[in-house]
Amino acid sequence: MAAVLDRSKMFIGGDWVDSAGDGEEAIHNPATGEVIAHAAKGGQADVDRAVAAARKAYDDGWADTTPRQRSEALLKLADRLEEHGGEIAKLESDNVGKPISMVLSEEIPPMVDAVRFFAGGARFLEGKAAGEYASGFTSIIRREPIGVVGSIAPWNYPLMMAIWKIGPALAAGNTVVLKPSEWTPLSALLLAELATDILPPGVLNVITGDGEPVGAGIVRHPGVGMVSLTGDVGTGKEVARAAASTLKKVHLELGGKAPVVVFDDADIAAVVEGIKIGGYFNSGQDCTAAARVLVSSRLQDQLLSELVPAVESLKLGDPGEESTEMGPVVSSEQLERVSGFVDRARAAGSKVVTGGARVDRPGFWYQPTVVLPTGQDAEIVQREVFGPVVTVQPFSDEDEAVAWANDVDYGLAASVWTRDVGRALRVSRRLHFGTVWVNTHILLVSEMPHGGFKQSGYGKDLSMYSIEEYTQIKHVMFSLD
Ligand code: NAD
Repeated sequence: MAAVLDRSKMFIGGDWVDSAGDGEEAIHNPATGEVIAHAAKGGQADVDRAVAAARKAYDDGWADTTPRQRSEALLKLADRLEEHGGEIAKLESDNVGKPISMVLSEEIPPMVDAVRFFAGGARFLEGKAAGEYASGFTSIIRREPIGVVGSIAPWNYPLMMAIWKIGPALAAGNTVVLKPSEWTPLSALLLAELATDILPPGVLNVITGDGEPVGAGIVRHPGVGMVSLTGDVGTGKEVARAAASTLKKVHLELGGKAPVVVFDDADIAAVVEGIKIGGYFNSGQDCTAAARVLVSSRLQDQLLSELVPAVESLKLGDPGEESTEMGPVVSSEQLERVSGFVDRARAAGSKVVTGGARVDRPGFWYQPTVVLPTGQDAEIVQREVFGPVVTVQPFSDEDEAVAWANDVDYGLAASVWTRDVGRALRVSRRLHFGTVWVNTHILLVSEMPHGGFKQSGYGKDLSMYSIEEYTQIKHVMFSLD
């Protein structure tokens, strides 16, 4: 067994400091259940110190850096992350139970690419051209940073989600207080270490601890100009309510329940491959997971006859083994949540066609599962499970498919599978989701926005839209006299 890491210090104002908070959090390896590290459970005093350090760094010069200077810093950071990709991957694998081969191929390269994209984006912010909108007066638009940004990250892609927040915030000239999830703080603390000689002290601060008091403390703090959260819908509502007291800007990337709409002219082999990857990647702990298959009733039997063996072929095992395709879920709480959903579905009359049970080994393991739900109003159709569970429902026609796809509170992502271009265009227009894929699922690129409609939140990650989110617009009017 490896030594237990001591990660009990926080990174504030460029220094590693003791927490003023309340004790330590044990950090687990979900593949074994073993404690692998201890991190500090911060308190309000840590939030206050981190916000003060971020403000000082902003006033002392980060806000006055040129786009080129910020871009060069971010490019160095991207190189540093790439050089340490193996170390980051090992931490994410140990802390979240992710197969290491998947982190190395599917998380490190896009994460590094996103930082490089934000570095470029820092130099490409645009606004309206200067002009005379009243005679004798010239108006110009200034796009300015907001100040101190609070970034609150989830546990499912700990570093990648943090990067999606701090990258655009720093590119736009803000300074940041980052709080990783209390379950997965290790890679964010490593990021602070790697950035120490690249970013001036206080530009990036990393504090650890629970949602309350640390996350909520950031949201309440009057010195924080904007909060960006990736997390659960309930947390998003809580954050929006708390942010109202200081009217700070909020950026919310929340849960999802992505429909996979399969028409009867779809390429079934591609659909099966898409669900096998999109539904079970990261053990289904993905806000865009292909969780809800809606299939033309004429195709349902064929789809199930190919999907079930494909799902059963997923190789579960030691996340450190290169051939492993699926690891555990992140925690005992998450295991309870996933098995609770499937048990309640079964008790209510849903049919579990494969999986549907815990795996008998140490750690927090659940079988890849396919469920035929009782109907559109079933809990397992309506609520985000956030585990390796996919439902399959037959539909009779396009209108029913679209109605059911849209009939959830979430609106993050959806996919449509058809060879008919007209139908693909028509259905993608009718779907109320922030991303719609056609004949694919789950792939994101740095240049394109990612973000929800409806209760999946508001504000975009990735793309130039995300950098714009971290700016505010000022109109300056000159009298020409
Ligand atoms: P969570 O909401 O429990 O926690 C997210 C973060 O918020 C954590 O750092 C937590 O400590 C903090 N937090 C909790 N309560 C808070 C409060 N009152 N004030 C401020 N901060 C608080 O979510 P999670 O379980 O870590 O992550 C899973 C959720 O994240 C899922 O719903 C998933 O769909 C969503 N998610 C969304 C996206 C997206 O891009 N839309 C991406 C990844 C994950």
